[in-house]
Amino acid sequence: MKVLIVYAHPEPRSLNGALRDRTVATLTAAGHEVLVSDLYAQGWKAALDGVDFPAEPAGAPLRVIEASHRAFEQGTQTPDVAEEQRRLLWADAVILQFPLWWFSMPAILKGWVERVFAHGFAYGVGEHSDRRWGDRYGEGVFAGKRAMLALTAGGWADHYSERGINGPMDDLLFPIQHGILFYPGFSVLDPFVVYRAERMNEERFQAIAIDLDRRLERLFVDRPIAYRPQNYGDYEIPSMKLREGLGGAGQQGLRLHRT
Ligand code: FAD
Repeated sequence: MKVLIVYAHPEPRSLNGALRDRTVATLTAAGHEVLVSDLYAQGWKAALDGVDFPAEPAGAPLRVIEASHRAFEQGTQTPDVAEEQRRLLWADAVILQFPLWWFSMPAILKGWVERVFAHGFAYGVGEHSDRRWGDRYGEGVFAGKRAMLALTAGGWADHYSERGINGPMDDLLFPIQHGILFYPGFSVLDPFVVYRAERMNEERFQAIAIDLDRRLERLFVDRPIAYRPQNYGDYEIPSMKLREGLGGAGQQGLRLHRT
């Protein structure tokens, strides 16, 4: 199978760099083809702005969604964006590898999403009418592909538990896993998270690397997170509210959107 790793850390000798290297080695040894988009090394431009749309008329106000749609449809996107889209279409699975910075992904990776997930490609896809609200949340360009977050966090696992001060990790990752990955169709696997990343030594790293290997061995086997697909009856149209009666006892907040 084909796996794209999108890696966002400025230092190749970092813990994230070591985990990236381990991921490449393990997947390659298992016979998979692997590509790495190393955003810092590529000098990835993080900000989405007018430079992304060279074919737009000079001096006209920038309407980002419309400009994104025209550039995608007319093949006038910048080459870096077009190349990342090709890589995504090539891949059977995508792994986003990053350190948790301010409870989210580093800005360079968010900028990769903003620029690469163009209108007409990853959003604004499919019929939008009073009967249907587009191909999203389980449908879309990446349907049939898998995605997984691999991240490191300075905080303790307890701090990210159900009653932990930082909030549950699942909730913090919801905008990425549900909003960025499930939205354009990926099946999203449980994240691989390394807590207390600063407290690392060779012995702990080896144990983590073995855990990572086990997850990678099951990349195409493990059941994805059971997010509810949009267009199969769970949501009212056009309010897109979860139907009354769905969501069992104990399912509240963001967890309502899992079956
Ligand atoms: P590194 O700093 O490279 O390494 C961490 C430790 O691992 C070091 O002791 C290093 O020596 C060791 N190590 C590296 N490679 C190996 C190896 N191959 N074998 C053995 N040991 C190794 N944390 C949170 O929990 N929540 C936040 O919101 C948050 N926000 C942050 C915001 C910013 C701007 C920054 C800079 C940090 C933030 N942190 C946060 C902490 C951050 O998540 C951690 O610093 C990060 O996850 C560590 O990953 P790294 O790759 O940078 O580690």
